[in-house]
Amino acid sequence: MNIIGRQDRALLVGLAVALIVVFAKPIQHLLDLAREVERTSGLALVPALIILTVVFLFHQTSKRWESKARAAAAEAEAQDASARASEMERLVMFGQALGRALDVETIRDVVLQHLPQLASSDDAWVMIRKEGYWQALGSAARDGHREVDVARADIADRALVSDQIDGATDPVTAAGHFCLPMTAGGHTVGVLGVPESSGPFNEGRRRTLAAAATLLGISLRNAQLFRELRETSLRDGLTSCFNRTHALEVMDVELRRARRSQSPVSLIMFDLDHFKDVNDRYGHLCGDAVLAAVGSRMRDVLRGSDLKCRYGGEEFLVLLPETPLEGAKRVADTLRRELADMVVPWKDESVTVTASLGVTVALPSEINCEALISRADAALYRAKDQGRNCVRLSLETAVA
Ligand code: GH3
Ligand code: MG
Ligand code: MG
Repeated sequence: MNIIGRQDRALLVGLAVALIVVFAKPIQHLLDLAREVERTSGLALVPALIILTVVFLFHQTSKRWESKARAAAAEAEAQDASARASEMERLVMFGQALGRALDVETIRDVVLQHLPQLASSDDAWVMIRKEGYWQALGSAARDGHREVDVARADIADRALVSDQIDGATDPVTAAGHFCLPMTAGGHTVGVLGVPESSGPFNEGRRRTLAAAATLLGISLRNAQLFRELRETSLRDGLTSCFNRTHALEVMDVELRRARRSQSPVSLIMFDLDHFKDVNDRYGHLCGDAVLAAVGSRMRDVLRGSDLKCRYGGEEFLVLLPETPLEGAKRVADTLRRELADMVVPWKDESVTVTASLGVTVALPSEINCEALISRADAALYRAKDQGRNCVRLSLETAVA
């Protein structure tokens, strides 16, 4: 700390001049005395005194400069430490928020909230790699502009090309953007980019961006794995239809929703005809291939909003929200036709199957899944009894 300020220095100089003026006579007297001593003793007192004074002043000045430099260095260090502390704090908050996010939508919210500050730019962006395509995770200011997203996808592609050469995740510069490929567990999950125009990328900024990209990469990968795991636990591996437990949960929700909105919900239940013969003739692996083909054909024929479920071995359920009985009957007829036309190649042979289908609709205010399934089942058995490869409506529904 400097005790003597600029104003004080002027005061001191003024004081020194005043003292010299006040004590001019005694000083003159002293000098005369010194000259007298010099003359009688042959000693050079005055030059020695001047040299001593100059050396003393020089020594004091250099000491002052030295302590000034030390204080400046300490201040810079303190500033650096404080910047690092707040950088660390921001990263910890970002990491904690990401830790609570299990899906991409929540991660997007966290990114929108924290990234501008972490990247020291409102134009920082994140593109994520999804099944071979780029998807914008969102950038603070210019969200929603398709051409911006296309340009960023191109930049992200370029950033990854250089990354794939050595498999590293070092920052790369592509088309005027500072890009950080985000990887986790050996998977490339996306790219974090900041326009180079947003100022210099000093060591601290680079360090923050690299840490943010690492945290975000791990979080995105976790969300991806969590979604895959959830999907796998809800779906049947062979046909990719929902399993029975999940389907019953969804049916329950749909029936309650339909009751609230007074909209119709229909259910188709079908069973493959003489499927045991397929297994007996071609083997169970062929039977499995046929079941997988049935799942795939259901996805082709039915709407995305229809719930497709493998209810048992070769029995399936299709729940059709907002569909009255006539509509469901039409869907069932189409499905029957499509399945009968389906050819599954197996070794040198072509395997075909047919199905019998039962259709029912939820009665007004009905929320009981079991009753609905049991009616569709009864209709399915009538289809089996009446020659197979056909569609039958449940009797109760037809009467209603
Ligand atoms: P129906 O026309 O009366 O329905 O005759 P079906 O032969 O289809 O009926 P059944 O219930 O007698 O046979 C169903 C067969 O489906 C028996 C079982 O081996 C087979 N199956 C069930 N699940 C699977 C599976 O995951 N893979 C294979 N390959 N076969 C299965
Ligand atoms: Mg069968
Ligand atoms: Mg069966």
